[in-house]
Amino acid sequence: MDERAEQALIVERNKQFSVVCYSRAAEDCSENGGWCDSEEEAREWVEDKCWIFTGEGWMCINCNAHHMRNLKVHRRDVHENKENNKGNDGLDHDLVIGIDPL
Ligand SMILES: [Zn+2]
Repeated sequence: MDERAEQALIVERNKQFSVVCYSRAAEDCSENGGWCDSEEEAREWVEDKCWIFTGEGWMCINCNAHHMRNLKVHRRDVHENKENNKGNDGLDHDLVIGIDPL
C-alpha cells in the first residue's frame, strides 16, 4: 500500500529527463517538469520554478498551493496528525486529513 516508488522522482523518455510531481494533489497539478538533457538540468528546472523538495520527492507549485490551502482549513487536525506521526516528514497531510486520529 505504501510502496510509492521513490525512484520515480525523475522520468526518462527518449533520453530526456523530467522531474515528476510526487504529490499530484492539485487538480491543476503540473505532473512533471520540463524535459531536459540530464537529471541535473531537470532538477534545476523545477528549482527554478520554485517546486518544493519534501525529502520524499518534488512537489509542484500548484500542489504546494493546494496543500497550503488545506493547511489553513485543517490546521489543527494537521498539527495533531503531525504530532502522532513523528518520523514521517509530515507531508502526506492530504492522506491523513479527514481520518480521525485513533
Ligand atoms: Zn503537482
